Order: sequence, then C-alpha cells, then structure tokens
Amino acid sequence: MKGIEGGVALVSGAASGIGRATAQRFAEEGASVVAADIDVEGGEETVSRIESEGGEATFIETDVTDEDDLAAAVETAVDTYGSLDFAFNNAGIEGGDAVFSEQDDANWNQVLDINLNGVFFAMREEIPAMMESGGGAIVNTASVAGILGFPNLSPYVASKHGVVGLTKSAAVELSSDGLRVNAVLPGVIDTPMSARAGDQDPEVMEQTTAGIPARRLGQPEEIAATVVWLCSEDASYVTGQSIAVDGGFSVQ
Ligand code: NAD
Repeated sequence: MKGIEGGVALVSGAASGIGRATAQRFAEEGASVVAADIDVEGGEETVSRIESEGGEATFIETDVTDEDDLAAAVETAVDTYGSLDFAFNNAGIEGGDAVFSEQDDANWNQVLDINLNGVFFAMREEIPAMMESGGGAIVNTASVAGILGFPNLSPYVASKHGVVGLTKSAAVELSSDGLRVNAVLPGVIDTPMSARAGDQDPEVMEQTTAGIPARRLGQPEEIAATVVWLCSEDASYVTGQSIAVDGGFSVQ
C-alpha cells in the first residue's frame, strides 16, 4: 500500500486480536510499529512475531485510561523512530452484559473509560506529534455497535457511538492540517473477545453467525487490511468515515 513504508505507526490493543493483526500488517508494509497494551506478555509476543518476520517494533506497557501512558507511547514513537505518522486507537473491552435497569456504575464507567475516554486521550496526544511531522492518519476502532443498537450492551454501544462522533469531529477540524481521521467498524471478528462471548453462550454465537450475510466471522487480518489502507496514500481523500467491515451485517 502506498505511503506506509518508512512511516511510524502506534497501535493500541496490540497484544491480541485485531490490534496484533494490524501491528503485523503495518510492519509487513514497511512501517515501524509501537505496540501499546496493558498486557505485557501479549504485547511482547506481538513484537517478537514482527521481528521474526524482519520488521521493526517496540512494545510499551500502556493503559489507555491513563493519558500519561499515552503521552509516553507517542514519545516512544518519536524518540525511537523519529516521528508519528499513523495511529490505530483500538484497545477496547466488551464489558458485562445486563438489561438497562441492571447496568451498574462500575461497568458503565469502565467501558466508557477504556473505549471512549481512551480514544479521546490518545488523539489528544497523537495530534500534536503528527502535526510536527506535517500530518498523518488516525484510525479509531468503533464497531457496528457504533451505528446500531444491541440489547443488554448499552455501555458498549454508547462508547462506540461516541467513537464515531469523535472521529467525525476530529476529521472536520483537522483536515486542513493534513491529518485524516477515520473509524473502522468491525462486525463479529474471530478474536479472544468474540471467543469469550461464544464461550458464554455458544447457541447465541451460532445464531449470530447465521445472521451474518457472509455466514462466517471476520478474521482480524480483514480489519487490519482496511486500517492500513485507510492510513495509506491510496485513501488520501477519505476522512471522517466509519467503514464497516462486517460481512454485510449492518446493511441487511
Ligand atoms: P481482544 O480482547 O482480542 O483485544 C483487545 C486488546 O485491548 C487486548 O490486548 C487488551 O489487553 C487491550 N486492552 C484492554 N484494556 C486496555 C487498556 N485499558 N489499555 C490498553 N490496552 C487495553 O479484542 P479484539 O476483538 O481484538 O478488539 C479490539 C477492538 O475491536 C476493541 O475496541 C473492540 O471493541 C473492537 N471490536 C471487536 C469486535 C469483535 O468481534 N472481536 C467487534 C467490533 C469491535
């Protein structure tokens, strides 16, 4: 993909699933990667997978609810590789599911803190660094739950709608500075997150898969390809968009 080689990418949630696949794809396309995650073992494993393929990557332990951690992650990109060109703000949790009246404060706050505040804090740190290097591209992970409602998941759905709104606002504000901001909206993707849901209720998972027009889960590599394309020069006029990668789930 055009314009990725030689760039520097920061990926959060890089220890697992979609984040790991995207960190690997950035490296395959020739970018240096800062892999950020709260999970040290998984993050270091991502780095060693990239290095074993001849790529460049550094892990930094990062809790996306702590803006100082995100500032340190951005600083690692600039100090280690010279700039920050691409950011994939992807760390997220599904939270607990409960009917609306039984949603507790702790779950609400944790989901909003990680999924929405985490993206806001990350962008607040990334944008000045990208402006220093003359522009860049940010992709935030929302979900089809960023454009659709789902029962029993109100905090998750609210957080992902928030990510879509934040993405649009930032895109409008920053376009003239050479900075593009988009969101990727995964459908049901085969990662530890969806496996946890499937373990809880295999029957619901089977019904969910049957309800996807593609009749299968997506692979993390299919999200990674979209994210890296959104960061590439091939997507140079694409900004503020929420791109669903969902096997047709959200358009039926
Ligand atoms: P995953 O559980 O495999 O990976 C999530 C990663 O985020 C983990 O490595 C975890 O350690 C990290 N993380 C969690 N809290 C963190 C924190 N406070 N600070 C830093 N890192 C933290 O899940 P995944 O499926 O790869 O999910 C990635 C993103 O995709 C999430 O934002 C999720 O909401 C979104 N998403 C996933 C699906 C799906 O079906 N898998 C669908 C739609 C959206």
